[in-house]
Amino acid sequence: MHVTSASIEITALPAFSDNYLWLIHCGQHALVVDPGDAEVVAQALQARQLQLDGILLTHHHADHVGGAAALQQRWQCPVYAPDSDHPAYQSLQAKRVKQGDHLTFAHVGALTDSLTCDVLALPGHTLDHVAYYLNYRHLFSGDVLFGAGCGRLFEGTPAQMYASLQHIAALPADTLIYPAHEYTAHNIAFAQTVDPDNPDLQQRAQNTANLRAQNLPTLPTTLALELATNPFLRCEALSKQIAFQHWSPIDVFTELRARRNHF
Ligand code: ZN
Ligand code: FE
Repeated sequence: MHVTSASIEITALPAFSDNYLWLIHCGQHALVVDPGDAEVVAQALQARQLQLDGILLTHHHADHVGGAAALQQRWQCPVYAPDSDHPAYQSLQAKRVKQGDHLTFAHVGALTDSLTCDVLALPGHTLDHVAYYLNYRHLFSGDVLFGAGCGRLFEGTPAQMYASLQHIAALPADTLIYPAHEYTAHNIAFAQTVDPDNPDLQQRAQNTANLRAQNLPTLPTTLALELATNPFLRCEALSKQIAFQHWSPIDVFTELRARRNHF
């Protein structure tokens, strides 16, 4: 998948069984988000004759961090990582990022304006999880938001994850979202069990099946599409279907996440 806005291009590099390592490039300069596999990134840089100027990490899981040290060694570029003392970051010379930080990359955006990245703290999947909001248009959401789904709660509480998803939901509806895994088809199958009469979801199921039949990514997605079809962003709308009257949206979220864990 390939997204071009001005001269910025964003490319999905498939890795492992279902990860996407997102390559952001502009001219000869590139950034990569969550390089779990250094070799995949090295080959993509070489094929496109790109120079790596920075590495952005969303959280400490190995499928997101595993290739960062080798790439940093090869390219001598900065690594941006969440501000936690998790051992996964200790071998890296990482610049630590937190909610509200504003990063600029002069080289990568040199052909147009500087490329900028705002950091959003989105705990839930892990406590240290952050997302990178590039040029107020592209959100690299790691394992928080997936196509029609959300990440598992390995460290955080349902209330934390719900708040993180609401944080994303408050961004502009035309925000492009780049999750780190291709889980959309399975997530839609689950969504249909709790939101069976949603025509947008039925349409998305069809579009997703067509893309996957051609082995194409279903991502990026848009916030508008997620608001219409992602059950974890539709807790209020779905509460009548699955909840008792006194349930809060967080209760509904908790129930949905529990059902999805066993789906
Ligand atoms: Zn993860
Ligand atoms: Fe992951």
